[in-house]
Order: sequence, then structure tokens, then C-alpha cells
Amino acid sequence: MDFELTEEQKEFKALARGILEKELKPLVLRLDEKSVYHAGFIKEILEKEIGLLAVKLAEEGVYAAKFIAALEEKLKLLARALPEESAYPLDFIKKMGNLGFMGIFIPEEYGGLGKSLFEFALVAEEIARVCLSAATAYGVIALGTLPILLSGTEEQKKKYLTKIASGEMLVAFAITEADAGSDVMAMKMRAARDGDFYVLNGMKQFITSAGPSDIYSVFAKTNPEKGERGVSGFIVEKETPGLEFGEKEKKLGIRASETRSLILTDCKVPAENLIGGRENLGAIHILNTLNRSRIVVGALGVGCAEGALKQAISYAKERKQFGQSIASFQIIQHKLAEMAVRVETAKLLVYKAAWLAGQKDTGKSVLAKFGAMAKYFAAQAACNNADDNIQICGGMGFMEEFGAAKRWRDSRILRIYEGTDEIQKNEIARILIKESAN
Ligand SMILES: Cc1cc2nc3c(=O)[nH]c(=O)nc-3n(C[C@H](O)[C@H](O)[C@H](O)COP(=O)(O)OP(=O)(O)OC[C@H]3O[C@@H](n4cnc5c(N)ncnc54)[C@H](O)[C@@H]3O)c2cc1C
Repeated sequence: MDFELTEEQKEFKALARGILEKELKPLVLRLDEKSVYHAGFIKEILEKEIGLLAVKLAEEGVYAAKFIAALEEKLKLLARALPEESAYPLDFIKKMGNLGFMGIFIPEEYGGLGKSLFEFALVAEEIARVCLSAATAYGVIALGTLPILLSGTEEQKKKYLTKIASGEMLVAFAITEADAGSDVMAMKMRAARDGDFYVLNGMKQFITSAGPSDIYSVFAKTNPEKGERGVSGFIVEKETPGLEFGEKEKKLGIRASETRSLILTDCKVPAENLIGGRENLGAIHILNTLNRSRIVVGALGVGCAEGALKQAISYAKERKQFGQSIASFQIIQHKLAEMAVRVETAKLLVYKAAWLAGQKDTGKSVLAKFGAMAKYFAAQAACNNADDNIQICGGMGFMEEFGAAKRWRDSRILRIYEGTDEIQKNEIARILIKESAN
């Protein structure tokens, strides 16, 4: 068996790495949302806000416990008001589009490079070594594009894939709702036919790149009484009247990847934007998409785990304690060894799943099983490596400017989006049990 990447695949990785070193690396920490500590601002709070509150409460004869509770409330409000910076990496994403990286897996007839999801995943992996926020903003392009690529009509492919491939249009994917997360088929968003249009009403939450994206693959119920057999997919353009966006969510990590709600109120979508031109096939479109896009999330995990390992090795060699480099301590060496094993194991699983996705004779459940395994394992590898990296780097690992803390915060999302760890394990076990019956 040959486990080597092809020369062309290696070139994609090298090309992506070259661009990232130059374009993305210098920006990484600035892209992340930073709470900026202003001594003057804090002093002002202490003198003005808290002072006034204390005086007011004292005048009213409020007891200490109440004072502390009121103070906490006030501080929470003030903390939220602290100046924050964040930046969706639009220039970087557009540049990737101009270079053809968005359309790697889009066929040449629609303006893409005509490669497979494997090559897209390799580039996603490289970006994630540097910054998981930017890698998420990149990876979501596959998530939003796949429903159109796999199931769209010829007109839909011609109209949208060409613009996605050129980087002219950014795309997002919307299935999650407040009461439909893991149980996504419980979605309530309604799509009712009205002449040449479908009228969409409802709300989607936690949508990656909602706001910066130009088009949205949105799923809604055309026949609610049919349950998951009544779901359909729609391509919704950003400027469609009735489509609004919620506030940008404040998150634990991947802060430069924007996450918002989509609010659709009597949003009239042309009937020709019904994905595939047929109603009630949305559940199939969603599953076909997730079975492949989870491989890309797995690749993000590999990149993130690898980035952590690289930083840990370099710091361990440099840092001296007790008169020697900490890399000479066996306990540090064992941590590095475990981290490397995680990277290689995750890589094997992700690459196998990506390879299977490109084979015509791969069955649906085999792809679903390996996609879930790859995502589950690589996400764990990323989180564990990000954590071990901080431990190896000690106090320096805890410092924001060092970058290890950001990777630790960012990596956690890999175990949640596009299906939690638990949902991946449910899926793997369901298929194993089904396979054993054959
Ligand atoms: C930053 C971010 C970006 C996202 N981007 C997108 C996007 O672009 N598009 C989109 O549509 N969605 C997106 N999501 C939504 C994401 O896919 C969901 O959050 C995720 O699928 C989990 O759903 P939930 O949050 O409702 O959790 P819940 O489903 O409420 O789960 C809560 C807990 O219960 C567990 N659980 C639930 N059901 C079971 C079960 N049957 N067996 C065992 N355990 C179970 C879960 O594993 C989890 O631990 C994003 C989320 C985040 C946080």
C-alpha cells in the first residue's frame, strides 16, 4: 500500500504553506478578537461607575450582599462594553479565491480546478496549522458549496459554482435552529410555495460566515407533516428582501470566524433556487454534504494538532531549566511522542476518508462511517495536542501573544460543529451494527 501523497497533492500543500507563511501568519493574533485592557478606562470605571454605585447604595442603606450582587451586574455590563477588536479575514479569503483555492474541488467546466475534496482538505489542513479561525472561514466554503455541487440543477451549478470558484461569491450553510441542533431534522423553518417563489419563515442559529457570505444553502420544511422527508434546500442570496442577520456571536474561540443567526421573514426565494429542482430531498442533500464536509473538519483537526506539536517541539528545544533544555526530560519527550502519534493517526484516518470520498464505488454508509471517524478522532487529537502544548510551554503557553492559548480555545469547536463527538459516535456505532447484520 502506498500512503504517500501524489506529487501534485504535495505541491498544493507546499503552495498553500508558502502563502500562509507570508500572508496569514503575521495577522493571526490580530485576527482573533482581543479584549484590550485600557488602564485609563478601568480607572475611570473604578472612580466613576463603581464609586457612584457605592455611594448610591450606601445612601439607600443596601446591605453588603446586595451591594456585591449589584456590583457584579454592573461589572458584567462594563466587561461587555470593553473595547474589542475582531476581523473576519476577508482579504485573506478573497486572496485564496483569486488563487483558485476556493474552487479546488469544483469541476473545470464550472470554473474550478477540477481536483477532489482531498486537495481542498489538504489546503484546509495547512491553514489550520496557522489559524483555525481562517481555516474555518475557508472550510465552510466546502460545506456551503457541496449541496449545490452534489445536488444542484445544471442552471444552479452554472450560476453559482463559477462565482464560488473565482472567489467572487462566499457561501454558507444553514441547518441549525434553536430547537434543532443535533436533532437537525426537527427544524421548524417553513418554506411555502407561492407561484414562482417559495416564502421562507423562521430562524437559523450559529451560522458560520453569516454576514460576510453572499449566498446561503438554507434548509426548511416544505411538507412539515412528512418530518425529515419534508425538508428541502434553497439557495438564498444575501440581498433577498426578508433575510436579516443577528448580532455577531461572542465566542470562546475561532473569534475571527463570524457566527450569526439568519432571520427569514416572508423571504421570497425564486422557485428556481430550490436545490436540485425537487422538493423534499433536503435530508438527503444534508447527509450527502455532511458525510463529505466532516472530512474537511477532520483535516482542520490534523492541521491544528500539527501546529501544536510543531510549537511544542520548538519551545521544548529552546527552553532551559535545571541547566538543560526541557526537551531532554523524558516526560516531555513522551508528551511529544504522544502528540506525534495523534497527528499521524488522525492524518491516516482523514486521508483515508478523503480518498474514499473520491472513489466512485464508495458506498454511502462507508463514507458516512469514515467521515465520522475522521472528524471524531482528529478533533480529539487537536484538543489534546493544544492542551499538551500549553503544558509543555508552561507559563509562556498561557500568554496570549504566544499563540498557544488561542489554538487551545479555537480547537474546542472541532468537537462541536458539524455534529458533536457524541453524534459522530452514534453514527459510527449505528453503521457498525447495521453492517454486522449483512
Ligand atoms: C461556532 C459554531 C459554528 C457553527 N456553524 C454552523 C453552520 O455554519 N451551520 C449550521 O447549520 N450550524 C452551525 N453550527 C451549529 C452546530 O453544528 C451545532 O451547535 C451542533 O450540531 C450541536 O447542536 P447544539 O448546539 O444544538 O447541541 P445539542 O444538540 O443541544 O447537544 C447538547 C449536548 O447533548 C448531546 N446530545 C444531543 N443528542 C444526543 C444523542 N442523541 N446522543 C448522545 N448525546 C446527544 C450533544 O452531543 C451535546 O453534548 C455551529 C455551531 C458553532 C458553535
